[in-house]
Formats: sequence, C-alpha cells, structure tokens
Amino acid sequence: MFSPFKFKLPRMFIGHFGVGFGAKAAEPKISLGTYFLAAQFLDLLWPVLILFGVEKVEIKPGITKVTPLDFTYYPISHSLLMVLVWAIAFGFVSWSFRKNKKAAIILGACVLSHWILDLIVHRPDLPLYPGSSEKFGLGLWNSLSATLIIECVFFFGGLMLYWRVTKAINKIGFYGFWLLAALLLVIYIATTFGPPPTSISAIGWTSYYLRTGLIEIVCRGFWKFKNLILALRTSLKPKKRSPPQFLHFHRCHFRVWHSHPRKKQIVCG
Ligand SMILES: [Zn+2]
Repeated sequence: MFSPFKFKLPRMFIGHFGVGFGAKAAEPKISLGTYFLAAQFLDLLWPVLILFGVEKVEIKPGITKVTPLDFTYYPISHSLLMVLVWAIAFGFVSWSFRKNKKAAIILGACVLSHWILDLIVHRPDLPLYPGSSEKFGLGLWNSLSATLIIECVFFFGGLMLYWRVTKAINKIGFYGFWLLAALLLVIYIATTFGPPPTSISAIGWTSYYLRTGLIEIVCRGFWKFKNLILALRTSLKPKKRSPPQFLHFHRCHFRVWHSHPRKKQIVCG
C-alpha cells in the first residue's frame, strides 16, 4: 500500500494526541503543545534511548497484526515505576514555572495516561519496574480493527472535548483546527499501513522527528502566531456562567447561556 513514509511506525499515536486535546478542556490555561508534549513524553524519550543503545527493540514482522516491533527492553521510558517518576517530574517542572497546581496534576496525569493507553494495545511487554520479569499488555495490536477503534475513540473523544470548550477567534483558527486533526489522521493512517522498518536507527530517528515536529508546529502556532493553528481556538470556557434563561415554547424550552450566545441547547420536557 502507498505510504508517504518509508515504513510503518506502529505505536499508539492519535490516541495520545486525543488525551492532549481532552486535557485542554480540563485546564484551558495551558497550551495544547504542552499537553501534547506530556501525553507523548514517553515516546519522545524512547527513540533517544534507542538511538543511544540504552533500550532495545527488535523488528519481527508478524509478531502482531499491527506492529512488527518487539519491545524487548525499555524499562526507563516505559516501566510503570519510571513512568510515575516522569509524571511527577513533569508536573513538578510545570508547577515550578507556573505555580498552577491543577495544571501540574493534569500534565502529570497526561504523562501517566500514555502508559495506560500503551497497556491496552501492547503485547505483554510493559514492565512494572526496571528489572521486573513480569510484563503486562492487553495485546489489542493483535486485531487491526480493534486497534483502529480504540485509537479513534480516544482521538475523536479528545477532539470533541477540546471543541466544546474552545472557539475559533478567526477563520484561520477554525480551519487550523481541522487541518491539524486531518494531518494527525493522515500521518496515523500512513504510518499504520506500510512495510516494516528496515533498521532500528531508522525507527529511532523517524519516531523522534515525527513527534517533535508535530509538537513544535503546535507550540509555534501558539507562541508565535497566537491567532494561528489549533491553539488558534482560544480557550473560552466562561469562568462564571450566568444563570440560564428559560424561554417556554410549547412543551420545550431553550436554554441560552449569555456567555455563549451561539451555543443554544434545546431541552425538551
Ligand atoms: Zn509508548
């Protein structure tokens, strides 16, 4: 099958980005790029450790339906104990810069969420702590359709949450959001259907550049062109909602939020 990439990079991908989108809904003060960084942190660490030979992966075509990779040794980036350490460290760094406890907790949770999502799709290859012989994984990668469903549930669920609490401030913001969502989907499809990778270093480099590239696009969009790209949808969750007005109309009424004049919710009853 045609793929713009030389080979597949079969990791959970859009599901982690979905968590980033969803986190923005919980605490809109933090940039989407930072949430992406937290949700993808372990998979940014992993290719670096692979390239330095600290962690190990083998290419075994057919080992699962979705990925030909056998994650033989990755205790620093993907053991539960170390993931907890990374999550606390990430949250602490965020807290020391912003002094926002809620944001720090959510960012730490995003880092931890990566392990939980990986647990769903990986073969039993995720260790609890470095040196542990017991490994875990529910093995959803043995079914392509189940993998696609779970990735889409997290991705579109996150998009929906993000969509509900943000609003495009201009047309660039509106189209930038959909463009990013489409870009992530295209990259996911292209990297899921392709020949197995040819070398371990190729996996490391491509994995690393793909994720850092995407996160940089989002961060730059936010910091440099506040009006641009997905961060272009400003977080407009109203701090104080004015009480709803009820306009009775036969047996239905409209609930109109003053702060969201365009968002009308029809409640029948
Ligand atoms: Zn991972």
